[in-house]
Amino acid sequence: MTFFKLQNELSAGNTSCFEIVSAFIENIRSKQDLNSYVEVFEDSALSRAKEIDKKIEAGTQGKLAGLVVSIKDLLCYDQHHVSGGSKILEGFESQFTSSAVQRLLDEDAIIIGRTNCDEFGMGSSNENSAYGPVKNALDTSRVPGGSSGGAAVSVQQGSCHVAIGSDTGGSVRQPASFCGLYGLKPTYSRISRYGLLAYASSFDTIGLFSKDIESCELVYQTIAGHDPLDSTSANKSVNIAPAEKKAPYKIAILKNAFADEGLQGEVKDHFQASIEKLKNAGNTIEEVDFPLMDYILPTYYILTTAEASSNLSRYDGVRYGYRAPKTKNLESLYKMSRSGGFGDEVKRRIFLGTFVLSASYYDAYYTRAQKARRLIRQATKKMFEDFDFVISPTSATTAFKLGEHASDPLAMYLSDLYTVQASVAGIPAIVIPDGQDKNGLPIGLQVMADDFKEQDLFSFSEYLKHIG
Ligand code: GLN
Repeated sequence: MTFFKLQNELSAGNTSCFEIVSAFIENIRSKQDLNSYVEVFEDSALSRAKEIDKKIEAGTQGKLAGLVVSIKDLLCYDQHHVSGGSKILEGFESQFTSSAVQRLLDEDAIIIGRTNCDEFGMGSSNENSAYGPVKNALDTSRVPGGSSGGAAVSVQQGSCHVAIGSDTGGSVRQPASFCGLYGLKPTYSRISRYGLLAYASSFDTIGLFSKDIESCELVYQTIAGHDPLDSTSANKSVNIAPAEKKAPYKIAILKNAFADEGLQGEVKDHFQASIEKLKNAGNTIEEVDFPLMDYILPTYYILTTAEASSNLSRYDGVRYGYRAPKTKNLESLYKMSRSGGFGDEVKRRIFLGTFVLSASYYDAYYTRAQKARRLIRQATKKMFEDFDFVISPTSATTAFKLGEHASDPLAMYLSDLYTVQASVAGIPAIVIPDGQDKNGLPIGLQVMADDFKEQDLFSFSEYLKHIG
């Protein structure tokens, strides 16, 4: 049942928040093998449910009363644990609530638990978690995508209405595609990052998963907007007026998008079919050249690892979480705590990031990547002078097998080919479920829009439902 139908049932007194949360907890228990949650907040979720039931009875409830949300294990929720999928933060308790979660609570949403993810958001398969891999609910031999794999599966398995994840280079969009869900990555700065554990601060965004576009839109409108606690949050009101762009749309597809050798036949066919469908409905579709295509992925991996190496220096074994036992002096305490607390992928990125920031290589890598980023953003934004949207596949393949890319980090990085452009450019993008391959595995269509055009993405998602 969608959240909107459920709200009617709640006001009619046919069900209660307590019943809904109890049923979701039962769902999580019966599907524990998926490993989508690191922790279920059973007590706090049930006691909030009771409180909100009272408010509904009194008619004083907020607009999200009855909405059950899971949060990625990177978002702080006061007096609840948060670990970033890492051993280094095992047992660490949040000292405050992230702004996004606070805005949900203020409207009477219920937080059901924290979802598994790749360590600090680094990965594309959810196999880099200290708490074990997450399995795709449609085929448990396959990955759900990452890094917000647990978030995606929490919605896919039916244990919450909406999941909050984070998307730095595709971590909401790629798992949404692999799990058959809507996945929104908003414009950088649109949703406050206050209380989101940092991976790459100039790329990190909080994103959303849902089965229906309406609840995604509602939650977006609730949590987006300026926040004095995040100095990078945009000082711009959330545009909840009707979308500006209307059908027929002008849509671009990138020529090079089809050239990718790794593009799975069925993903290509589905994408082609979507193009035909849009054309038949009267929209204009044009192929455009994007000569900077080959620079996007390297730019992303140079800048994000640099930022990660700086952000993750705070985990030193002294201030938070894990501390190695039996160390001899301060230096060995740092070294052994970080060596023992971080997983392999995180260490690989700290090495890479520290290298590109080192004095002798700074200009050759970091400075050049910053310049490349500006050019990529300019060229991407220029496309929106002529087009409403740019569409592409989300990922070159459908969900791959657990372990398939585990020993090949480069193959894993290449799977982010389609998603990193929006992240490097800072623009919003949405993934819309778009059929399945012959094994029944979902395929997602990615739609990018210009800065702050989330409303257009929502109305385009609605529009696609109507043209079949
Ligand atoms: N897969 C990408 C990475 O590992 C994206 C991760 C993300 O968006 N958090 O960096």
